[in-house]
Amino acid sequence: MCPIADNLARIRAELPAGVRLVAVSKFHPVEAVREAYDAGQRVFGESRAAELAAKAQAMPPDVEWHFIGHLQTNKVRTVVAHASVIESVDSERLLRLIDSEAARAGRTVDVLLQVHVAAEDTKTGMTPAELLAVASACRGLPHARIRGVMGMATNTDDRRRIADDFRNIAAVAAQLQLMEPGATELSMGMSHDWPLAVEQGATSVRIGTDIFGAR
Ligand SMILES: *Cc1c(COP(=O)(O)O)cnc(C)c1O
Repeated sequence: MCPIADNLARIRAELPAGVRLVAVSKFHPVEAVREAYDAGQRVFGESRAAELAAKAQAMPPDVEWHFIGHLQTNKVRTVVAHASVIESVDSERLLRLIDSEAARAGRTVDVLLQVHVAAEDTKTGMTPAELLAVASACRGLPHARIRGVMGMATNTDDRRRIADDFRNIAAVAAQLQLMEPGATELSMGMSHDWPLAVEQGATSVRIGTDIFGAR
């Protein structure tokens, strides 16, 4: 028995068609990523630049890597070299740097703008107003394509609060899409709350613990 393959099969069976699964492999060894790959998973999420680079070099090239962690400006080059999607863009400065580093590398990177709606001030991201201002200031960057919004709900057992947070994230995504018709992605929902995110319109969920176990 392979628990990772079983976990993936169970989650895929529950996930509605059309919602993408980002398997969050951060802090788990490359052997675990390989098990998930052998079970058919191709999209993985990582939160640290060096770990992303090491795993990307060890895994086949058809893996689609999503960067989901706080990105320091001195790590942008490393992340741009490996990530298909940077989900955690939280400032105009970072977005412009991703664009210029991607230009330098001769590639185009999809980005999501990270919104902060949760109660905890530990969670990174922009306020809805900041996010829309950044999107408006950075329209049409040639090498960093704004594809949507990423967000997290408050870490609580209060399902109504979680659903409210996801509804607020979805509302920001809808406003962004009025400005950027190609910004169709809504990344929200983790191991403990993804069904609520799907109810509020998530187009992708980011699941770590329920696939790979505790970190
Ligand atoms: C770690 C992480 C996840 C996955 O969380 P789990 O609770 O393990 O499913 C999702 N999104 C982000 C931004 C993360 O940092």
